[in-house]
Amino acid sequence: MFTEANGHIEVICGSMFSGKSEELIRRIKRAQIARLKVQVFKPAIDQRFSLTDIVSHSGFSIQAVLVNEAREILEKLKNDTQVIAIDEIQFFSKEIIKICQKIANMGKRVIAAGLDQDFRGEPFGPIPFLLAVAEKVDKFQAICVICGASASRSQRIINEMPAGYDSPIVLVGASEYYEARCRKCHQVPKAVLV
Ligand code: ADP
Ligand code: ZN
Repeated sequence: MFTEANGHIEVICGSMFSGKSEELIRRIKRAQIARLKVQVFKPAIDQRFSLTDIVSHSGFSIQAVLVNEAREILEKLKNDTQVIAIDEIQFFSKEIIKICQKIANMGKRVIAAGLDQDFRGEPFGPIPFLLAVAEKVDKFQAICVICGASASRSQRIINEMPAGYDSPIVLVGASEYYEARCRKCHQVPKAVLV
């Protein structure tokens, strides 16, 4: 049977605005209440709100350590840490899968949150593999801003890339660039972004 106390991987995924960060922060806070030793990481690429904090769209926040590469998580991991939370997991290379597995095999709890799909609706980076190896997967939905149904997709609402963003897939941002849409209302932007 799946027991939280054993080493394992949990994935929190869904579209933008689906409440992934809120849920991640909630699980971190509960682990802290249980007096477990927690380390929180996020990729350095996501600097939309703050250099180090994880901030939800509704304003909750928690401190995180920025890492440039997945392997830095292992380097920074302390022996006595019991819970490792990682936000925006989709921005890491596939190396993150092995690293999550390794940490879980040490008997630690890994909570990984991230986008399951990019703005085109394609599976995002390492996420499909993480979903496959995780013990527990939660998939959240936002509300479609067009029709009010449950939203599973992140709609990019700009056509021009802001200066400094070289890859269309990893454009990081919030409500200025994206909105939540359901499958029916989601549209893949045209070739300009390829
Ligand atoms: P995520 O990390 O998945 O992008 P957050 O946890 O940062 O999501 O934010 C979720 C919050 O965003 C909701 O609780 C709500 O207050 C707000 N929100 C804004 N737009 C929407 C939307 N279209 N659907 C659902 N929640 C939304
Ligand atoms: Zn819709």
